[in-house]
Amino acid sequence: SRATLFDAENKVKITFNDVAGLEEAKEEIKEIVEYLQFPDKFKKLGAKIPKGALLVGPPGTGKTLLAKAVAGEAGVPFFSLSGSDFVEMFVGVGAARVRDLFKQAKEKAPCIIFIDEIDAVGRSRGRGAMPGSNDERENTLNSLLVEMDGFATDSGIIIVAATNRPDVLDPALLRPGRFDRQISIDKPDVIGREAIFKVHLKPLKLSSDVNIQKLSSQTPGFAGAEIANVCNEAALIAARRDREEVTMQDFQDAMDRVIGGLEKKNKLISPEE
Ligand code: ATP
Repeated sequence: SRATLFDAENKVKITFNDVAGLEEAKEEIKEIVEYLQFPDKFKKLGAKIPKGALLVGPPGTGKTLLAKAVAGEAGVPFFSLSGSDFVEMFVGVGAARVRDLFKQAKEKAPCIIFIDEIDAVGRSRGRGAMPGSNDERENTLNSLLVEMDGFATDSGIIIVAATNRPDVLDPALLRPGRFDRQISIDKPDVIGREAIFKVHLKPLKLSSDVNIQKLSSQTPGFAGAEIANVCNEAALIAARRDREEVTMQDFQDAMDRVIGGLEKKNKLISPEE
């Protein structure tokens, strides 16, 4: 809504158990949980705790989920905003919003700040389509850089950002002391999809004919978000059919519907590109 500047969650319930697959990414990001929980362990040895990590990967692969799980595991508040919220904003609002976010985060530290779609604000400066049209975005990016430099590494704030376009990011964002670590989050393979299906099938009442291996092998190219979508869609279809349990047929129809939706989306997008 217009009134909220960003989201703040004080008690995050998501943990690494909710994030299926992504074993390497989880392993890497566990370090951040340690920084938040035991900063002294690092400071004692003279180590500077990193300020930020960049999660790189296609939409719907669990980047937001993983960042949230870090907050859940460390038991710290989770502040989040999306870079796309800053697009077409009135002059000065974006920069003010960033300052306000960091101010509140400092009060609540230790905490996580999550910036989704950072490429929307973090595109290389001076690479806009029309000269002059991106001033406000650049203001916002500049204020983000100023805020990142302005807090000490031991202030207990860690910024996790997500993008599927690391190539367009302003190099200033990737400098040491800013988002100097990248963690890649890929679309799941068949084993990963099976793990994700397991998470999202758990709340459903399933017929004995439902075969997870089959579902996983029939969904190549699906990201976690689409798998979650298939599971819920199958349950909705089963309810509409007045079933007591969700059957394999319901999943089949749900997959067709999700694939149809994906194709439509691609058709709408591709002529523009
Ligand atoms: P975007 O870049 O579009 O914001 P994202 O990578 O941040 O996408 P999420 O918002 O984390 O993706 O994923 C959307 C939903 O898909 C999650 O809330 C979850 O229900 C499901 N999901 C995605 N990936 C996974 C996963 N690895 N394990 C379990 N659920 C997943």
